[in-house]
Amino acid sequence: MIDAHIHLDQYDYLTLPEKIAQWQQAGVKQVIAVSTDLSSSYKTLELQLRFPHFVNACIGFHPEFSYPKSHDVIEFKQLLKDERSRITAIGEIGLPHYEPKQVDKLSFFTELLDELLLYAYRYELPVSLHAVHDKAATVLTLLKKHKIKQAHFHWFKGPHDVLSDIVNAQYYISVTPELCYRKRDQLLLHNVPLTQLLIETDGPWQYNDSFQKQETTPLMLKNIVDCIEQQLGGPKLNIARQIELNTKQCYLL
Ligand SMILES: [Zn+2]
Repeated sequence: MIDAHIHLDQYDYLTLPEKIAQWQQAGVKQVIAVSTDLSSSYKTLELQLRFPHFVNACIGFHPEFSYPKSHDVIEFKQLLKDERSRITAIGEIGLPHYEPKQVDKLSFFTELLDELLLYAYRYELPVSLHAVHDKAATVLTLLKKHKIKQAHFHWFKGPHDVLSDIVNAQYYISVTPELCYRKRDQLLLHNVPLTQLLIETDGPWQYNDSFQKQETTPLMLKNIVDCIEQQLGGPKLNIARQIELNTKQCYLL
């Protein structure tokens, strides 16, 4: 199993080695570690150095976070160039949705995304996308404009017609532990081919229902696979194996 989207830099630095050992023992082979801003990108790259066989580093600017300063964006582009060989993807990038009151945030991040996709194309890097609800369609248009081959719509919450366009474009979609208790995600699951499905925790983001008060870690991947099996049927081992293969294909691992 591979966690296709986790904010590993937000976990306690000191206890991380023993935690990772525990996750590995439970069958978690690797993680796709995304970043939220420039300093988070440096941290993720440092984690990749510390755990080279476990951590795949993605660097990016999360669109729900505050605007990056222009010198941070310049430094980020240099970092992409300098560390290209250690970078698995650009992410988490995308469009803001949850803070509509912030003036011009959408136009700022649309411009930034447009620019970062140019870099993804140039460096042949996959992208890890935050593109929820109505923003998914705009992001899909930009991906096509830039001829991006590898893209992952993390924790997809978009409309059904956009989902089928994403599937037709051969991009990937992931589900979180929310799949186990939320009807919307269960319906989604039935409309994504198993060959384009990824699983993620978005940890340390916390979940409800049976996951309430539990620390979110890649140990929850097993729960997600169980819930996929309940929803779709079929042998669990095959599901887990196929999803792992998808993650490797999406992120060119
Ligand atoms: Zn995230």
